[in-house]
Amino acid sequence: MSSDTTGTDHGPVDRDLADGTSRTGANDRSGQTVLSVSDLRTAFFTEKETVRAVDGSSFDVRAGETVGIVGESGSGKSVTARSIMGLVDSPGQVLEGSSIRFKGEELTELSQKEYRRIRGGRIAMVFQDPLTSLNPVYTVGNQIKEALRLHQDLRGSEATEVAVDLLESVSIPDARRRLTEYPHQFSGGMRQRAVIAMALACEPDLLICDEPTTALDVTIQAQILELLGDIQDERDLAIVFITHDMGVIAEIADRVNVMYAGEIVESAPVEELFANPRHPYTRGLLESIPGRHPDEEQLRTIEGDVPTPNEPATYCRFAPRCPKAFEDCTAVHPVSVSVNETAEDHTASCLLYPEDQSREDAVETHRARGDAAEVTAGASTDSSTGASAESSADTDPERSGSPDSKAAGTGEDRREGSR
Ligand code: SF4
Repeated sequence: MSSDTTGTDHGPVDRDLADGTSRTGANDRSGQTVLSVSDLRTAFFTEKETVRAVDGSSFDVRAGETVGIVGESGSGKSVTARSIMGLVDSPGQVLEGSSIRFKGEELTELSQKEYRRIRGGRIAMVFQDPLTSLNPVYTVGNQIKEALRLHQDLRGSEATEVAVDLLESVSIPDARRRLTEYPHQFSGGMRQRAVIAMALACEPDLLICDEPTTALDVTIQAQILELLGDIQDERDLAIVFITHDMGVIAEIADRVNVMYAGEIVESAPVEELFANPRHPYTRGLLESIPGRHPDEEQLRTIEGDVPTPNEPATYCRFAPRCPKAFEDCTAVHPVSVSVNETAEDHTASCLLYPEDQSREDAVETHRARGDAAEVTAGASTDSSTGASAESSADTDPERSGSPDSKAAGTGEDRREGSR
């Protein structure tokens, strides 16, 4: 079975992909693995149900590489990010059997105190709304210098000079004066630049960006994406970039993981994903990009909604919305497989693959591997349920008071014990 979308018009996205490079131009990324996520399962336990927000995700991120995670609202993108950061709010919990290795260190085994050492320091996060990270009652300068004090032990004039350099590095003009201003005196784009400066103050190895440009207009969005690309090139930074926007993914990512209902359903280098999307959900997302079908009056959409994954997957969660669904799709859970024998770095969780196997053989491959995975997941959930309520003392990062506790990049823990 071959892709029926090869060579199709991909609209505005093609312009960046036509020569095989994305904005970060990173086809030749060969850095060391910074982050390795394996079989990540994060569930939220309520009296009514268990929501498996992330259900068996695995991916790696290398130095100098941007890995995009894309999907609709409710697909599990942000919970993946918060799981990596150790910021899963109660009643959520990263389940036993999940592995998050950062530069060789297993994060799921860390205490909250140990996690603080890494969070906001070696791993920093930029949220969609910069006001989530900026405290309105402290100047931007105070907040950046607090991050520098915490993570680089810099104080006084030395911290001021580094803070000026950081604001200049994110293209904020008149940086010395801007340090004395409050967040409300910055425009939306400037605030996001300031948050990125705070994150960089910690000299992170990994930057997690959760929809950082969604609230910005397209011009500012393009500037922020370009800024992130430049910063990455300068610092060999590993970036996880979360968005629902395939156009943004085309701009920024080297590799793309498509998430649906808690699972990564397709993974491929960005050029390959846009040229040869295999999973029906990925194809639907690409077909929904505005401008793809200029002759049509209405935007194409994927009918239906993302289901809430509240039970172990025993079938394809996309089946109710899938135009290619067949009988086995409601009886066999697809696992991640290479789309064909030669495409080692292009995987899809769909019973139509591997495409060089007969459909019967492919279904059998998924059935055998899916059964084994289900047993493991069930055991993890059972052994984890009793500890799920321990995080009731969590504090919302948007509500805490001091500049260090508000900053995305400071590493101060804004919650206690949700893992
Ligand atoms: S497994 Fe079946 S329902 Fe699921 S994406 Fe593939 S064809 Fe569609």
